[in-house]
Amino acid sequence: MQITIPKETHSGEDRVPIVPAVAKKLVHMGAKLMVESGMGLGCGYSDEDYSRVGAEITGDRQAALASADIVLRIRKPDITEVNQLKSGCIHISYLDPFNESELIAAFKQHGVTAISMEMIPRITRSQKMDALSSQASLAGYVAVLLAALRLPSIFPMMMTPAGTLKPAKVFIIGAGVAGLQAIATAKRLGAKVTAFDTRPVVAEQVHSLGAKFLEIDLGETGQTADGYAKELTPEQVQMQREAQKKFIADSDVVITTAQVFGRKPPVLVTKDMVEGMQHGSVIVDMAAETGGNVEGSVPNETVIVNGVNIIGQANLPNEVCRDASLMYSNNLFSLVEDNWDTEQKHFNLDLNDDVLTGCVITHKGEIVNTTIKNLKG
Ligand code: NAD
Repeated sequence: MQITIPKETHSGEDRVPIVPAVAKKLVHMGAKLMVESGMGLGCGYSDEDYSRVGAEITGDRQAALASADIVLRIRKPDITEVNQLKSGCIHISYLDPFNESELIAAFKQHGVTAISMEMIPRITRSQKMDALSSQASLAGYVAVLLAALRLPSIFPMMMTPAGTLKPAKVFIIGAGVAGLQAIATAKRLGAKVTAFDTRPVVAEQVHSLGAKFLEIDLGETGQTADGYAKELTPEQVQMQREAQKKFIADSDVVITTAQVFGRKPPVLVTKDMVEGMQHGSVIVDMAAETGGNVEGSVPNETVIVNGVNIIGQANLPNEVCRDASLMYSNNLFSLVEDNWDTEQKHFNLDLNDDVLTGCVITHKGEIVNTTIKNLKG
């Protein structure tokens, strides 16, 4: 089977879908690997790094896509490139399937089997394929470093002959994968960390990292079978805002990571809360690109509101693109390996498989994913 790995075209994307060490493993499995020339450059990998492990390098992107049995990439493709794929090709990448109805329609129309990395189910067997988690974890780490650099004070307490410096107070909203890594990173830097999440089960995990959990009684909240938060009612969101307000005013850094799978993130930090913070304080809105947890945050920009820095930088894993690429490559490899027929040397697409049932969106000209199909009515 030919696996094509095209170069990512999104501006500012340095991550690569497959690093050379993982390319080697794909070649060992018996795949014919076709890598677009320059694919690894963002991360410092040359064409030779890939050819050395047995990949073929091509300058003809169009031909490599047209002849692919499998395409591996990070970002969703342009529709024009979906049109170039052959029927029966398996395309694996992020797809944003809740919002990309036209793209999904194109996959369907061309008989391409589209697999969405966002839709890998959260079951034990597929943890190693879970790109949302691997990238979110790195994003949480980067968010804290960005905040630490921007804050005009230091994170740890320091007692010196020149004076005693108090530790920074960091408040993290949303303690999922990104939030927990942000808590751990801020703790390592010596900050005083408090977190809140609507899923009460998280409190124990927050405590185990040495941080405090802000108790807010919102009534019934709960989580889905996949471990995701349920959407709050407008009344609950209001209750949460009120309860957090004083705490935010007293924080040096606020990092928001709150997401509700398949929906717009909730706005949890309003303009008056931002204005209540001290000059020089920092907010990192990790949800800025998908709608924002913070009123006034701008995707990919740092804005200053009343002296408060609001960082809306997107694609935070890109700041540590080497490790992000390694982890994403391992996620992709695990997915391919798990379904690889070692004798026939091909991807065995069993739609009854628990993992594939969750993440295959289109197959043989149909939308086969129940969640996405129901979404389209
Ligand atoms: P996510 O990115 O969808 O959301 C981030 C966090 O925001 C979540 O913890 C969510 O509860 C929280 N949140 C939503 N609304 C909020 C609000 N109004 N206020 C405060 N917080 C709010 O979720 P995620 O981080 O990708 O994963 C959530 C959980 O899923 C993880 O903590 C973990 O327990 C579970 N998980 C399981 C597996 C697995 O079993 N394979 C893999 C990854 C994650």
